[in-house]
Parts: sequence; structure tokens; C-alpha cells
Amino acid sequence: MAQKDDCLFCKIVAGKIPSTKVYEDDLVYAFNDLNPKAKVHVLIVPKNHYDNVVELEQKEPATLARIIEVAQKIASDKADGTFRLIFNTGRNAGQSVFHAHAHVLTGEVLPE
Ligand code: AMP
Ligand code: ZN
Repeated sequence: MAQKDDCLFCKIVAGKIPSTKVYEDDLVYAFNDLNPKAKVHVLIVPKNHYDNVVELEQKEPATLARIIEVAQKIASDKADGTFRLIFNTGRNAGQSVFHAHAHVLTGEVLPE
């Protein structure tokens, strides 16, 4: 795995910081967001470190496709199969952790 020193999500993937695992495979790791914004709020991250989703798409596009597949699986397993998928990209857009991650929100009727 390509990890970056002092990256929170690299440490979560490596098990050095605890998380509530929702799903794991060879490419991605998914865990509950610590500060949920919906009844179901899961983060899906690539196991390798990329700063954001654009870098992930450029360097490991199959993993971006996997993230979408896993989002659907989580939404079907935990809710009615519908979901909102968010990739905050850049500080001004709300990105606070600079390891690419998808927010999967579901489990309720989401506000607009
Ligand atoms: P973003 O603002 O898009 O970079 O999203 C970062 C997300 O990581 C936020 O929704 C935080 O609540 C979440 N978060 C931060 N630290 C942890 C942690 N230790 N375990 C789970 N989620 C976390
Ligand atoms: Zn990282």
C-alpha cells in the first residue's frame, strides 16, 4: 500500500487509528464517519494514498469505479439502495482530510 506519513486516513487503513469498518476489499476501505450528517454516513477511501478524487481518477481509475460499486452495495445493504455520493475536492469546497474519500449518505430522505 502507498501510504503517506501523518495522513489520518492512511493510519485508519493501516489500523493504527480505530474505525468502525463497514466494508473492505483489495482496493478500498469503508468506515463510519465520526460525525455523521445522515442516518447512514460512510466514508469510502482508496487503500493507496491520493490527495483527492481527481488524482485518484488519473492514477488509479479502477479504484474510483470500485468506490461507486461499493457505495451502491452499502446503500442497498443498509438502506433502500438510494444514496448521495460526495467528493469534497479542495479546502474551499469543504475538504478537510487530504486523502481521497467518498461520503456515502443514505438511510433517510435527505435534505436538498
Ligand atoms: P471532508 O471534510 O470531505 O474532508 O471529510 C472528512 C470527514 O472525515 C468528515 O466528515 C469527518 O467527520 C470525518 N472524520 C474525521 N476524522 C475521522 C475519524 N477518525 N474517523 C471517522 N471519520 C472521521
Ligand atoms: Zn493517506
